[in-house]
Amino acid sequence: MTKFIFLITTLFLSLSALFAEEGMYPLSELHTIDLQKAGFKISAADIFNQEAPSLSDAIVKLGGCTGSFISPQGLILTNHHCAFRAVQTASNAEHDYLKNGFMAAGREQEIEAKGYTVRITQSFKDVSAEVLKDLDAISDFAERNKTIKRRRKEITARAEKENPGMRAEVAEMFKGQTYVLFLYTYLKDVRLVYVPPISIGNFGGETDNWEWPRHTGDFSILRAYSAPDGSPAEYAADNVPYQPKKYLNVTPRGVDENDFVFLLGYPGRTYRHRTSYFTAYEEHVHMPFVADWYQWQIHLLEDLGKEDRATALRFSATIKSLANTEKNYRGKLRGLGRLQMVRKKRGQEAQIQAFLQKDEALQRRYGAVLNAIKNIYDEKTNSAERDYILSYLTRSVSALSFANTVYKAAEEREKEDLERESAFMNRNFERTKKRLFIRLQNFDLQADELILTELLRKAAQLPKGQRIKSMDRLFSLNNPERDWQKAIKQAYDDAKITQKDFLSKAFQQSFEQIQKTNDPFLQWIQALQPDIKALKEKNERQSGELSKLSAQWAEVKRLYEKNTFIPDANSTFRLTYGHIRGYAPADAVYNFPITTVAGILEKHTGQAPFNAPDKLRQLIKAKAFGFLQSATLHTMPVGILYDCDTTGGNSGSPVLNAKGELVGLNFDRAFGATINDFAWDESYSRSIGVDIRYILWLLQKYAGAGYLLDEMGIDHN
Ligand code: GLU
Repeated sequence: MTKFIFLITTLFLSLSALFAEEGMYPLSELHTIDLQKAGFKISAADIFNQEAPSLSDAIVKLGGCTGSFISPQGLILTNHHCAFRAVQTASNAEHDYLKNGFMAAGREQEIEAKGYTVRITQSFKDVSAEVLKDLDAISDFAERNKTIKRRRKEITARAEKENPGMRAEVAEMFKGQTYVLFLYTYLKDVRLVYVPPISIGNFGGETDNWEWPRHTGDFSILRAYSAPDGSPAEYAADNVPYQPKKYLNVTPRGVDENDFVFLLGYPGRTYRHRTSYFTAYEEHVHMPFVADWYQWQIHLLEDLGKEDRATALRFSATIKSLANTEKNYRGKLRGLGRLQMVRKKRGQEAQIQAFLQKDEALQRRYGAVLNAIKNIYDEKTNSAERDYILSYLTRSVSALSFANTVYKAAEEREKEDLERESAFMNRNFERTKKRLFIRLQNFDLQADELILTELLRKAAQLPKGQRIKSMDRLFSLNNPERDWQKAIKQAYDDAKITQKDFLSKAFQQSFEQIQKTNDPFLQWIQALQPDIKALKEKNERQSGELSKLSAQWAEVKRLYEKNTFIPDANSTFRLTYGHIRGYAPADAVYNFPITTVAGILEKHTGQAPFNAPDKLRQLIKAKAFGFLQSATLHTMPVGILYDCDTTGGNSGSPVLNAKGELVGLNFDRAFGATINDFAWDESYSRSIGVDIRYILWLLQKYAGAGYLLDEMGIDHN
């Protein structure tokens, strides 16, 4: 009998170790995981430890992506798509690093990754009490929201003052409930070291994006630099490679099916704790609008770039990012429909309401919460189209975006620092300007004119009661005789806002001077202000109310489910674990979790995006895989699939084995897993990475960059 129980228990243990779990664990929750049982061969202190170097010191937040240190000299491994903007910015028709790839033969040849920064998490501390103190005394919701923002800024400013050189951030873990202060080492000099040609780094392009099986070599190698004394510094010739406290061991042994893996990184956003009303709004209003609008722009930019490589190059990063979101949203929309997510959430919410009704005190306290949330989403839905048109006017139209930034900079910078919008605070202003100048580099007059025209066409069709009055007035949208084309053309002809020198000077001028400046786009932005400001105020009010209501709804759910939750992703450091595992995307179909180089030859057509370089195909055919060949598959693995819990922002996350050694590089999810952001499920949640052996093999054999393997400490001779 005892033996039987023992057998059952070991069976249960080994089975449970085989199942994956939902969970992007923040540092504060690491202690809740039974690491050994889950499959780790390291301890929580090996992952994060404020007293001694630990794995977290090797993980960086790289813009909206993740990366990891893989050498003592600041070498960073991340995705090709994460370095894309830097590669595009450094390229021109003559030096086309996007098409041909880039390799720095020595440190002096490494190129600045313009606008890129690196953060490394140092510490975290709960500051909820300070953020939320006496908030209930504020009945005006816009005011409430502003107070929360202001307190977050105050805590940040204090922390940065106490820790010179560091970057602080107060992250919202649970809306209106939990706030955590993170301290980051913040590096501002990042350079390109190795980037494969796009025909490897983005093999399969948009056709294969968000799909499995995958054969994309989506990796690139960067290096972080610091001042000679090791402190963070802006890009400068005499900076030296940054020496991280910890770097990852890269293991050429790779992984096999069913192996345990875990990921560390900075996942961006998930929406799992939101109500059915938020979800319905996303499904029927927000995502369809954005997907259509992005698709329209993609077609336009692809069309305009057809004849000329320099133009196509300028559009390339924008098209890629629009297309990435567009396809992701289509995947999510399909998933929301297939899983009947809104209907299921409504069912759960009805049960919770019934639970509240059983208790008078609970009903009095929480009974109206859900309906109040519904009212906000109804309000949002009613004006969504006009609100999106107005906000995309200053986002999608570059000339208006520049004018808006200059205008707001002048206005905001006359306020006290903590009162300013975040982008214009002293700590962010240089970055804001830098980003604008990078965008200016890619400015295209023809595309901009057409995008503006399309938004005006949309605004002209808005129903009565939803009109954007300042736009109507400015562009005579109600007048059937109007001639937009002429007015727009004239404005672009007269525009100064698209000139670098003008912009540099404009950033130094007072608000009064800017208001008087004779530039058509600055004038337009000024005329649009009443509507822009009214929309901002409405958003503040809705966020303030949602913040209060969401906190209350979370309390209800805790009472009902008697459970604690893991916070939704919010770009802070997280851990997730699982296994290399296949899945069944459809009836009678099973997808194996490892692809190999054979698939590259199968998919190759010679036409982009399936145009593998000749040299790569020859190397594959020659089977010259050497010590990197998989012992189980007897060939070179390329892509790996695993049931971890990831989202955008996990791009570039290292895939680690049970001992914490680097075995792969995360870059995507399967199409059916895009819905993961709303609900994780073992049956469909699958993330995609590049097998480290393929990366090492490309560096060694394709690029002839054996020196990089040396730097990683890999014996390859
Ligand atoms: N490929 C994804 C993106 O670019 C990143 C990873 C993910 O979302 O799973 O957004």
